[in-house]
Amino acid sequence: MNNAEWKEKGDSVFVGTYSRFPAAMVKGEGCRLWDADGKEYLDFLAGIAVCSLGHCHPAVTEAICAQAGKLMHVSNLFYTEPQTELAELLIENSFADRVFMANSGAEANEAAIKLARITSGSGRYEIISLSGSFHGRTLATVAATGQPKFHEGFEPLPEGFIHAPFGDPAALEKLITPATCAILCEPLQGESGVRPLQEEYLKAIRSLCDQHDLLLIFDEVQTGIGRTGSLFAYQQLGVTPDIMTLAKALGNGLPIGAMLTRREIAKAFVPGTHASTFGGNPVAAAAGVAVLRTMLADGFFASLAERSDYFMNRLEETATRFPALASGARGRGMLLGLVLTEQGIEHGQEIVQQLFERGFLINFAGMRVLRFIPPLIVSTEEIDLLIDALSEVLLSFS
Ligand SMILES: *Cc1c(COP(=O)(O)O)cnc(C)c1O
Repeated sequence: MNNAEWKEKGDSVFVGTYSRFPAAMVKGEGCRLWDADGKEYLDFLAGIAVCSLGHCHPAVTEAICAQAGKLMHVSNLFYTEPQTELAELLIENSFADRVFMANSGAEANEAAIKLARITSGSGRYEIISLSGSFHGRTLATVAATGQPKFHEGFEPLPEGFIHAPFGDPAALEKLITPATCAILCEPLQGESGVRPLQEEYLKAIRSLCDQHDLLLIFDEVQTGIGRTGSLFAYQQLGVTPDIMTLAKALGNGLPIGAMLTRREIAKAFVPGTHASTFGGNPVAAAAGVAVLRTMLADGFFASLAERSDYFMNRLEETATRFPALASGARGRGMLLGLVLTEQGIEHGQEIVQQLFERGFLINFAGMRVLRFIPPLIVSTEEIDLLIDALSEVLLSFS
């Protein structure tokens, strides 16, 4: 079947929650994808910041195949080797000493929200998150998400989620009440347009948490696992959270999420308080172990830093060449955005579409920023190809 046939069939069977590119992907390798018509793409989307080691990375594929031939699932009523090893690796390389395994970002955040409430004790349940944030699509995580458009039609939402204006610690402090138990934020907002939180802002949030005895929860579902240039974004920011959530790149494509915290906080979760049938499933966890071992190998982040600087420079230079359409570039690591002007925003969706037609995959985050989230292994040659195509497309709108 070709792309058009897959599209027709797909549109007749799926609930319409996505507007999809008109392509059925059939194969991936590194930063490249191929569709059912045999067309090749350079992938600057990576399955929404998931396939960070590239498609079908041999170490990950091998680990998955080996584990699938040994043991696929037993539930969390037993210990398994891959899950234990993954938790150990996460602990050795972070502030945390306890891990809860989930299957997705929203689930990891649900665990964090429930833990923050139960560990803070009765009467303390409010969680303050930031406007423009994205935390997932379950009822609680959508309530935590600071974008009203995601709430519409789903009211009444769970109680106790308060949104503070972005970038204003004084406004945030005014929202703290005796019922507040935690502040939840992404160190860099991915979905709403690659918006980094300034270090001073994050430090102010940390000190508000310390002053008012609140837990600081970092949603590193998108920023974590190497995306921003270190294993976790918090490691570059001089601010350590009390709880951190991960998912997206943790399994390089297999669904897995995790909530990390410290023992004193974790002890409020006991048998029966929270659970997951699949969380940390051996096959997904084996993928996670392969991901972490690959990223923690010598030279991985040094090489990433060089290519990230290169990409950032090329994006800044692109913004300078097309001032009517783009005002600058921002982001960290391989979570980068070209910020569009009002005029550029009008063409944003079309720019993405034209790049797709030329065989380059990107997206339009928050309807204002062209977001580039390629596999972390993307080469400077591949970055050049993208910049050339992007320049041609921008030129056609100038
Ligand atoms: C993608 C994302 C989520 C939701 O993860 P799912 O796996 O889709 O549930 C939560 N928080 C952030 C910051 C994300 O980028």
